[in-house]
Amino acid sequence: MGSIVLNIIKVIGHRLPTVHLVAASICIVIVGVTLMLVPSEKVSATRGENLSSLQQQTVALDLDLDLEAENESGLVTDAEQALLEQPAVSDAADEEPETAEAKAPPAEPVANWVDYKVTSGDNLSTLFKRAGLSARDVHVVSQATRDSDALKRLYPGETLSFLIEGGELKKLKHLISPLKQVLIEQQGDTYRTKTVEREAKIQHQFAQGTIENSLFLDGARAGLPNNTIMELAAIFGWDIDFALDMRKGDSFRVIYEEKLLDGEKIGTGNIVAAEFVNQGHAFQALRYTDSKGNTNYYTPEGNSMRKAFLRTPVDFARISSPFNPNRKHPVLNRIRAHKGVDYAAGTGTPIKAAGDGKIIFRGVKGGYGNVIILQHGQNITTLYAHMSRFKKGLSVGSRVKQGQLIGYVGKSGMVTGPHLHYEFRVNGVHKNPVTVKLPHADPLPKAERQAFASVAQTLLAQLESYSGTQLARAE
Ligand SMILES: [Zn+2]
Repeated sequence: MGSIVLNIIKVIGHRLPTVHLVAASICIVIVGVTLMLVPSEKVSATRGENLSSLQQQTVALDLDLDLEAENESGLVTDAEQALLEQPAVSDAADEEPETAEAKAPPAEPVANWVDYKVTSGDNLSTLFKRAGLSARDVHVVSQATRDSDALKRLYPGETLSFLIEGGELKKLKHLISPLKQVLIEQQGDTYRTKTVEREAKIQHQFAQGTIENSLFLDGARAGLPNNTIMELAAIFGWDIDFALDMRKGDSFRVIYEEKLLDGEKIGTGNIVAAEFVNQGHAFQALRYTDSKGNTNYYTPEGNSMRKAFLRTPVDFARISSPFNPNRKHPVLNRIRAHKGVDYAAGTGTPIKAAGDGKIIFRGVKGGYGNVIILQHGQNITTLYAHMSRFKKGLSVGSRVKQGQLIGYVGKSGMVTGPHLHYEFRVNGVHKNPVTVKLPHADPLPKAERQAFASVAQTLLAQLESYSGTQLARAE
């Protein structure tokens, strides 16, 4: 299991598809949020003394929502009541006094909220039916909530709370996230919706650690949440190949955001500042939002952490033949410089533009087979050979973005098997694509430098002082 995770990190460190990482992080966040929303815990916890954070927060939300019905009982009590009213429990005899109490409510009628847990395959109709409501109710409520987020997507594990009186749906609550709840309330023939959104409080957390096993394991040991570890790998992945470059004894320090609701942690936010020391070389990354609202990670000097070029233009590939000026050619069987790197990959594997640029050649080029050459700025060109086919719609003169699909791995030209032959030229001179120093992407504009410098100074000082505090505490 550990090694699988490690391999994921390795692959991520290796290929740097920022978009995938973001997607992965989002998935983790979704899983996290989903776990937080599992209501079975909520219901069962009501039997115990302690309220989970979710309950406390639900109670708080109720207060917000039901201002005009202050004496109405909250979800927790109602869930308890629902439990008591569950029929045919084996030890029903023991519970008889309580059951009797539940069946004989006090003179003043108490509204009974009943929770229904969303399970796989449920939709609004199945849930309404379970609650004893009709297809017409589904229709009326759907119409009324058309313009809100409520009831649009129901995920297994979520709970819908119904308040039904005399067979009529009075109120319905949908907890969309810990920060967002919608109350649907009967008003005449229709229903009106009220959305209550809350804002999480952000506070900074600090973690530091030393690499003993892997970024994932040692990050987790230092207390970093999984998505923060992924983000850390993405930020430094442009400089450090976490599969090949990382060594035992490397270290990291991270300041990241933690989201709190009513004093309880409900999730994590962005990395604010981080440092990774790789083989004695320290890389630092600082989050900064410029005056136009664009957020990026920068070195303390104000260079983007991102590079203008992907190190490897194909995913899931291995180097089958390195850059080598004195290579014996496998087909020609004589010494002939290998002026690029070969990445073995299956025919049809997508090839991405290493950087923003313009197509200056697209066609067949002798032993290279199908080739695309990109011009990047004034002095850098990249070449992609042996393609099985080109991406449709591209031609000489087309502009491409970094990471954009330009063609597919193949074995056109003089080759022994499918691979991408990739060349990187600076001022016409072939460089080793694996080791060439890659220029930074989008440096901060001059106008932003001063504002950035003061933010950077603060963040670096925080990194120092936090780690000082931790060391002092450890001693
Ligand atoms: Zn080659």
